[in-house]
Amino acid sequence: MQLIWFRQDLRIHDQTSLWHATQAGQTVAVVMLSPGQWLLHDDAPIKIDFYLRQLQQLKQQLDALNIPLLIETVPLWKDIPDSMLKLCQQFKIEKLHANIEAGVNEQQRDAQVAAILYQHQIATEFYLDRTLFPLGNIRNQSNAPYQVFGAFKKRCYEHLSLSLPSCLPAPEAQPAINTLEFNISEFSTSIPCVQTFYPDFTAPASMWTVGEAHAFALLDEFLDEHVRHYPTERDYPHLQGTSQLSAYLNMGVLSIRQCVNALFREQHGQLDFEHTGQQIWLDELLWREFYQHILHDFPRVSKHLPFRLNTQKVAWRSLADPIVADDFQAWKQAQTGIPIVDAGMRQMLATGWMHNRVRMIVAMFLSKNLLIDWRLGEQWFMQHLIDGDLAANNGGWQWCASTGTDSVPYFRVFNPVSQSQKFDANGDYIRTWVPELAGLDAKSIHAPYAKNPNLNLNYPKPVVDLKMSRIRAIEAFKNAQGKI
Ligand SMILES: Cc1cc2nc3c(=O)[nH]c(=O)nc-3n(C[C@H](O)[C@H](O)[C@H](O)COP(=O)(O)OP(=O)(O)OC[C@H]3O[C@@H](n4cnc5c(N)ncnc54)[C@H](O)[C@@H]3O)c2cc1C
Repeated sequence: MQLIWFRQDLRIHDQTSLWHATQAGQTVAVVMLSPGQWLLHDDAPIKIDFYLRQLQQLKQQLDALNIPLLIETVPLWKDIPDSMLKLCQQFKIEKLHANIEAGVNEQQRDAQVAAILYQHQIATEFYLDRTLFPLGNIRNQSNAPYQVFGAFKKRCYEHLSLSLPSCLPAPEAQPAINTLEFNISEFSTSIPCVQTFYPDFTAPASMWTVGEAHAFALLDEFLDEHVRHYPTERDYPHLQGTSQLSAYLNMGVLSIRQCVNALFREQHGQLDFEHTGQQIWLDELLWREFYQHILHDFPRVSKHLPFRLNTQKVAWRSLADPIVADDFQAWKQAQTGIPIVDAGMRQMLATGWMHNRVRMIVAMFLSKNLLIDWRLGEQWFMQHLIDGDLAANNGGWQWCASTGTDSVPYFRVFNPVSQSQKFDANGDYIRTWVPELAGLDAKSIHAPYAKNPNLNLNYPKPVVDLKMSRIRAIEAFKNAQGKI
């Protein structure tokens, strides 16, 4: 008997470990719910809700293939090895199949499971699935990992131009398992709802439908109608200019190979750009790839260390100071008095997702204008994003805070008001998320008190002066560099 262990790869099409398990023989499936680990990893309730709802869909798909899905609940990942061994022994498992995950804790968890199973003559195999290229395999001429995206991307293009990765089909249905022989009824097969773990959670209305079919439909719609306009529309948060597929990619409802293949389906699987939209969207998928490889090659980034170690000396403002604590609170609760920042933060609190341009603006505002440690922002994002992914979130934050791989230079501080004027010129995005300002015209909405500080609005004044805080941030980075 084979065992497939589902993690963040909740689909049956192009699912590498599922495919190999089912080709090897009769298969059962398991997921290990670890609520304590979700808390340790700051996983957002909305992400857990998405995960559990997607599991329901997966269970139905697996039922149709006669693959029973067992639901084990253990407090933490450290409890998985014993639980997995027990299960393997009960089902007389020959081999456990799972897909590789890049994080340090994930790899430690998998090594511990493999070790205990090995002691009991049970094999394990971990497959390349979550990334296009094997972690640790994209190397420069000195056989070292790339540290800047441009060079990494070029290398990826070289590989992709030789051949695009192919997708595996869904497995065929297997003969039904004798449930009595294996005492399946001793195991739980019912999937809890999110309120079991987060009693106060309420789902946002009408967003984030689960299911592989839905994810495919979104991908198709994006490729048919939007990708052509991606170069010109992707930076404007009031438009539907991006795919909004990040939650699906992150939970593995869609695979990265499915996205790349669909992107080039008109080119019969050749890396042949028909328009710049194709190329720019591929580049975004490669940013995802890049950060996964960075996490693998430089695991310090997941241990609260900056990629650029010299930025460790930056004197972030301390939360022990009540003024700073208030500033942080204002940022978290979307009450900074900078409309584009508050709009973005409210979009995330309400939907679990925030537009990429606005993610950059709010992250730079926190780490530069408020000079608050980017790690606090990174954590707040993880606690609220439906697509929260350690590698991409860490990479995005370190880019904005000028502590990362090829991050923005520390002296290039976005002015959030100019960004707002440029990317939300009419103020439509702000009006959606900050209704207090809905009555303002397109000129004044970006900085409501700039011309008239006495304006009577039910909206806070800016928590910080943008000019002064920009200079303060640049000084803090300059001072830190002097200390190397
Ligand atoms: C501070 C900050 C935090 C971020 N946190 C996350 C996160 O936790 N999870 C996450 O998936 N993305 C994160 N991103 C990257 C990016 O904002 C989102 O991937 C994107 O907004 C998702 O929207 P989309 O699916 O419409 O993207 P599209 O523009 O359609 O891009 C397609 C896919 O490419 C990937 N992608 C796009 N941009 C990036 C990028 N800059 N870095 C890595 N992958 C990218 C995503 O998987 C995305 O779904 C973060 C960016 C910043 C600046």
